[in-house]
Amino acid sequence: MISLSGLTKVYPGGVRALDAVDLTIADGEFFALLGPSGCGKTTLLRTIAGLETATSGSVAVGGRDVTSLQPGARDLAMVFQDYALFPHMDVTDNIAYPLRIKKVAKGARAAKAREVGERLGLAQLMDRRPGQLSGGQQQRVALARVMATQAQAFLFDEPLSNLDARLRLEARTFLKKLQRELGVTTVFVTHDQAEALAMADRMAVMEAGRIRQIGTPAEVFQRPASTFVASFIGSTPMNLLDATVRGDSLEVSGCKVAVPSSAAGLLTDGEEIVYGVRPEYMAYSAEPADGALGGMVSIVENLGASHLVTLEVGDRVVQTVVPEGHEPAMGDDGYALPRADRALVYRDGDLVSR
Ligand code: ATP
Repeated sequence: MISLSGLTKVYPGGVRALDAVDLTIADGEFFALLGPSGCGKTTLLRTIAGLETATSGSVAVGGRDVTSLQPGARDLAMVFQDYALFPHMDVTDNIAYPLRIKKVAKGARAAKAREVGERLGLAQLMDRRPGQLSGGQQQRVALARVMATQAQAFLFDEPLSNLDARLRLEARTFLKKLQRELGVTTVFVTHDQAEALAMADRMAVMEAGRIRQIGTPAEVFQRPASTFVASFIGSTPMNLLDATVRGDSLEVSGCKVAVPSSAAGLLTDGEEIVYGVRPEYMAYSAEPADGALGGMVSIVENLGASHLVTLEVGDRVVQTVVPEGHEPAMGDDGYALPRADRALVYRDGDLVSR
């Protein structure tokens, strides 16, 4: 278990990269740290690892306060974005390097490197140097090196970012499977929301040195706690539309939609709010329907098995995902009916919900 309490990091020059972060990561959990560039993800990971010194607050690993310990004494293993492999060493020596530092005997080191290498599909490559490996293979060597050390937790800083799109998907599945098998607590930094959603047991979304939301991928996707998180998560961003409460309905760009179930009874008549609904949570129709957002189809984008349809609703645009075979043509009239059990209301940027 990793516990952070009031963790703050102010760099020389005054950048407050972490601002009183409280976070508990459970034993065996695969935890993703997600957020835009510069929000403090890497700083958080490096402060857990001991590569940065906290300005204030504490880090505990397995119940032990490690705040003032050197990185080597924390029993954590970190994989960097560039893998940091030694170019002059072969795969065996790269994997065994941390064991050499720990003064493990040569024969035992090589045996361990072989065992871990085989597990990661590197058996045929053990004599090669990093320069003779593909990006995906190098990533596996970096992982193998971390696994050989048997640390209490793994810390990954964007480990997939050097891989091309297809390899990245493969590595994602592989890494998740491996983490499941090993059951080692893993903290994973990424700026890719799809990666965090796909891989994490739980995730934290950060903004400007603070954690904005912690939850399972499903919770964060379905019920983003703020408009910031809502607009950051999802491969197509959530529709966020200015709305006015009118009795038991909402007025959105001249259309009347139902109050989302999560906000029922919590709104005041006449109140200005933001109405949020994901493109995936609307039913598309060519015919007018009660409670739908209607307008002219301005763009139709092919997503493969579905289409992203952009509607001009009053002076706003609304996007909705339409299954293959049902997509309209540009210039058609179209209607998107939001699901009341999935739509959300935001007041001053924060989710309104019981
Ligand atoms: P990215 O996704 O771009 O890697 P990040 O979320 O990992 O970003 P950090 O690298 O943790 O963000 O940086 C957080 C903030 O701290 C940024 O404003 C950055 O400019 C600043 N920062 C990072 N390292 C230092 C440093 N050594 N000295 C001063 N400021 C720093």
